[in-house]
Amino acid sequence: MSSILLHDIGRLVTPLSQHKDDSARPLLTIERAAVWLENGAFKQVGTSADLLHSVPSNIERISAGGKMMLPGFVDCHAHPLFIGNRAHEFFLRNRGASYQEIAAAGGGIHATAERIARACEHHIVREALPRFERSLEFGVTTIEVKSGYGLTWEGELKLLHSMRELKPLLPQRMSRTFLVHVVPSSWQDRRKLFVESVIEEMIPEVAGRRMADCIDVFCEEGAFTVDESRRILRAAQDERLDVTIHANQFGHSGGALLAAELGARSADHLEYLNDDEIAALLQAEVPAVALPACVFFMGTIPYPPLRKMIDAGLRVALATDMNLGTAMTESIPFCMTAAAIYGKMSANELLWAVTLDPARILNLDAVTGSIEAGKSADFSLWNLPELETLPYFFGHAVAEEVWVAGEHVFESQAVVHRY
Ligand SMILES: [Zn+2]
Repeated sequence: MSSILLHDIGRLVTPLSQHKDDSARPLLTIERAAVWLENGAFKQVGTSADLLHSVPSNIERISAGGKMMLPGFVDCHAHPLFIGNRAHEFFLRNRGASYQEIAAAGGGIHATAERIARACEHHIVREALPRFERSLEFGVTTIEVKSGYGLTWEGELKLLHSMRELKPLLPQRMSRTFLVHVVPSSWQDRRKLFVESVIEEMIPEVAGRRMADCIDVFCEEGAFTVDESRRILRAAQDERLDVTIHANQFGHSGGALLAAELGARSADHLEYLNDDEIAALLQAEVPAVALPACVFFMGTIPYPPLRKMIDAGLRVALATDMNLGTAMTESIPFCMTAAAIYGKMSANELLWAVTLDPARILNLDAVTGSIEAGKSADFSLWNLPELETLPYFFGHAVAEEVWVAGEHVFESQAVVHRY
């Protein structure tokens, strides 16, 4: 039985699951805090003075050196399984190159799918591991992992198998999603057949072999129509899988309304969102996932109307959308900075949006997302004095220490000074 008292935490800041009315996004802040960890979970949370007095003296004591403690971040929308990078394409796109020009220069999603087709699972896992390590540095203790760059069933299976191979290698908790991304180039003239194969073959196999917890569809012009997305996601719901949608990224695609109609676990992107669409999501109690790093990196689409969405009462989570085409970052703190600037989100709203709200979306809020007795001891320590300084010192916020399920899994090597 492992038991540790972590004391001398300068400031502990966390949302709480049991707040009756959490619409104001209240946070618990404890100065000079301590946590008692036992068997990977928080056993007790309080002040250092109280816990140093009450916890039995034979329990190992570790000082946090005055650092700030936050709950482990939950990145609920990420695409970390791919080969190589598309930096060349980034510069082409910045110069206004068209989709066709980028494809001709060897870029785009179909080029990535070809690389997946040629790679073995070990290669995919080897390439992905450093991305998870960087994610950990940014304080992420739970991460959603989407397939979606394989496109064909063979390619997608390779990614789903890679998830299985990765799981025991990762310190983070993983949530798996099968993404139906776009029609593969080899099926372009058999589009209807491809949708049928997704419904009749892929989804039953994903469900039957428990290869993913959720099915996601890219519902957008150039990807899947609303009708196709509806059929795919209903098939997933028939198999008792959660569903989510890449919705309204490039226009009012109907994806947000479909997410409301189906009661999806979330509607993600939402760069184009009008009052009716906000009302539909609110009515259906479907939370939004905003991906501000993607908006920043693309430079051509608007930020979602975050202030308006939140003021209307919509729950909004923030995620990286980490992917090699449109958001090559693992940084949740950067997403917080962008949402603070472009979404006018408060520090309280930002912390909820990267911890307890995304944990609820992934159905993991009973386990993680806040620092509370009984939950898994997933947290990060920061050499920062208060929550507001995390999105403020943008671009270099790296956690000092990260713990997952009571295990110390990351320690920064950075030379730092106290602010
Ligand atoms: Zn995405």
